[in-house]
Amino acid sequence: MKKYTPDVNWFDDFNFAKSELSKISPTFCLAKWLQSTIHFHLGKTHSCHHPPLTSIDLNKVRTNPSALHNTDDKLDQRLQMLNGQQPAGCDYCWRIENLKQNLNSDRVIKSSSPWSTPHLYAVADSHIGETINPTYLEVSFSNECQFKCSYCSADFSSKWQEEINKFGPYSTGNGSSYNKLETEDSNEYIKYFWQWWPELVKHLHVFRITGGEPLLSKNTFLILEDFFVNSYPQLGFAVNSNLGIHEAVLNKFISKIKFALQYKKIKSFTLFTSIDTFSTDAEYIRHGLNFTKFQSNVNYFLSEVPDARLTFMVTFNIFSAFKFIDLLKWITELRKNHQSTHQALRIGFDINYLRHPELMSAELLPKKYLYLLDDCYSYMVEYSAEKLGLGLGFLNVEIDKIKNLIEWLRGAQLDEQQVSFQNKRFVDFFTEHDKRRNTDFKIVFPELADHFIKN
Ligand code: SF4
Repeated sequence: MKKYTPDVNWFDDFNFAKSELSKISPTFCLAKWLQSTIHFHLGKTHSCHHPPLTSIDLNKVRTNPSALHNTDDKLDQRLQMLNGQQPAGCDYCWRIENLKQNLNSDRVIKSSSPWSTPHLYAVADSHIGETINPTYLEVSFSNECQFKCSYCSADFSSKWQEEINKFGPYSTGNGSSYNKLETEDSNEYIKYFWQWWPELVKHLHVFRITGGEPLLSKNTFLILEDFFVNSYPQLGFAVNSNLGIHEAVLNKFISKIKFALQYKKIKSFTLFTSIDTFSTDAEYIRHGLNFTKFQSNVNYFLSEVPDARLTFMVTFNIFSAFKFIDLLKWITELRKNHQSTHQALRIGFDINYLRHPELMSAELLPKKYLYLLDDCYSYMVEYSAEKLGLGLGFLNVEIDKIKNLIEWLRGAQLDEQQVSFQNKRFVDFFTEHDKRRNTDFKIVFPELADHFIKN
């Protein structure tokens, strides 16, 4: 086996990973082996979060809990990658790569991460069917959540579930149908996860809890209690929170994280929080969000836990463009106010584009508004890490994400029929949404109101 030498700056240099990956195959992606998201309440998993979810075979899990990750579906996709094929479920990356060879897709970004690249040669030498323990694991224990974001669904939000139970499914179907949901107390997948945990945790660089809202899950707090007893000095622990939870819960959580960091029970902690744009526009997308409270909780967390990192996650959608530059300005201000002498990259920023539901895709944004994204790109370049310094300005990897987004939207080739079909669904969905939730998209987004009335 080839020896890996960690002498590369992973955050901005993809050349090493790119060339080593291509020696194995042009479609090889370490995330397919080493990254996993497991939704216990659905009994489903995917490698990274882009491909569709597939079911986990509980019978296989009963004999080997690592089957929570190594499903037959993933084994098949790994084989396709080794043979240079593009598994259909990974179209998120192929769309970017097939556009231009020099764009860095998530396949390259994920494969050049500290949790993936050191294992490159071990993975390449492994056999299909061999037990692979993930090094980056994300889990959700339940759909319990106090938000009902417009692109979410009953599968991931109990508030959505309540709405569907009360009013019935939306005529457009999105968000409405949900799987059989396991409760945390009787969920067998969670039972086997805890059996797997002592072995699993030895391999993990990153363990991340998502939801629903993870701070409403009792298993999240069981993990935090485990940190009182056991130490995992290699473990980067992370939680995705909407930061809209009750003050008492936030304080309880913060005190446990402080303990884990202070007594070096874990290597690091990162709070991931979703936000897709700024102010009232963001509130419309993420129903339940109080933007002022969100800003105040972000500041509170950063002040209370100076050793932790915080990353904003954007799911860029049709509503995101109009105030996106204000979000970028706020992030610049936060980076200045919460600088850390020992953590250069304290406040992160990641952009993904929304694919589902298609009626909210940024591809439907009228092209005349793409200049707003050009302005964002120019702003990020002007306030880049190269100019302001590491930790203060935007990294190349962050600027690349907005560049990819612009390239993709400029190249988007939806035909007239597709556009008019999705626009009609948009109007149907948001008319119903506004009636049920007492909101009005025409007031919040006058730019789109005109466009959709015409259609
Ligand atoms: S979607 Fe991209 S990053 Fe995710 S597993 Fe597939 S190729 Fe890798």
